[in-house]
Amino acid sequence: MSGEFDGLVAVVTGGASGIGRAVAEELSARGARVAVLDVKGTEFVCDVTDDGAVRGAVAAVAGRFGRIDVLVNNAGIGAQGSVAGNDDAEWLRVLDVNVVGIARVTRAALPYLRESPYAAVVNTCSIAATAGLPQRALYSASKGAVLALTRAMAADHLGEGIRVNCVTPGTVDTPWVGRLVDAAPDPQAERVALAARQPHGRLVAPEEVAHAVAYLASPRAGSTTGIELPVDGGMSGLRLRPV
Ligand code: NAD
Repeated sequence: MSGEFDGLVAVVTGGASGIGRAVAEELSARGARVAVLDVKGTEFVCDVTDDGAVRGAVAAVAGRFGRIDVLVNNAGIGAQGSVAGNDDAEWLRVLDVNVVGIARVTRAALPYLRESPYAAVVNTCSIAATAGLPQRALYSASKGAVLALTRAMAADHLGEGIRVNCVTPGTVDTPWVGRLVDAAPDPQAERVALAARQPHGRLVAPEEVAHAVAYLASPRAGSTTGIELPVDGGMSGLRLRPV
């Protein structure tokens, strides 16, 4: 597989941790030069809610590497609770990162993507977009918007040769999930229970999501746009209900 992305430049938002880090490593292993945009732990420090910072960071990547071929919109934050469980400020904060953040970074990267013969955008969505998860109203709404946005972007940029797809992971073993587990009264029992709730009996590995992202981003997926690729242990494919 190495060499598949030779000569190409990829931007990965939220690439300092978890799924984004695995994606950055996978694309790099396959030959891409990778720029991580994150609020922490990277040369291209950038908050996706800050339009000026986003434009500056994307311009800095293009200045450094000369092009941008692949954009992985992965930065995201969570929220728990029913529809009444978060106030307006919290709703707007999560939507700002998870949804508007994708619009901001894509808008800044579009001039460069238009110049690429292999332009691809991959958004990190979630099974929360369609599964009807309890106590995840705000997060689910944000990921539902990511799914809709992915399809709309795919339509808008088809004629420009820019493909847009998303991955829809189940519960992935990342620092984010680690924080949720650690907050439980019995973290070890919580981790076992979480794994048991996945159809295939374990958490999804970040590397498994990274492989799916790499496929969708690859020039080999040149005829694939506007889709969601589940990486969820069978939950959506087998039409299972989350328990
Ligand atoms: P994580 O917390 O381990 O990593 C998220 C990264 O995004 C961090 O490095 C963080 O600094 C960065 N980030 C957060 N807000 C940012 C901002 N405003 N600007 C720039 N960077 C920002 O989380 P993860 O589990 O790897 O999640 C990554 C993505 O995957 C998210 O979009 C999340 O919704 C999605 N997802 C996660 C799971 C899961 O179970 N972990 C499941 C489905 C989807």
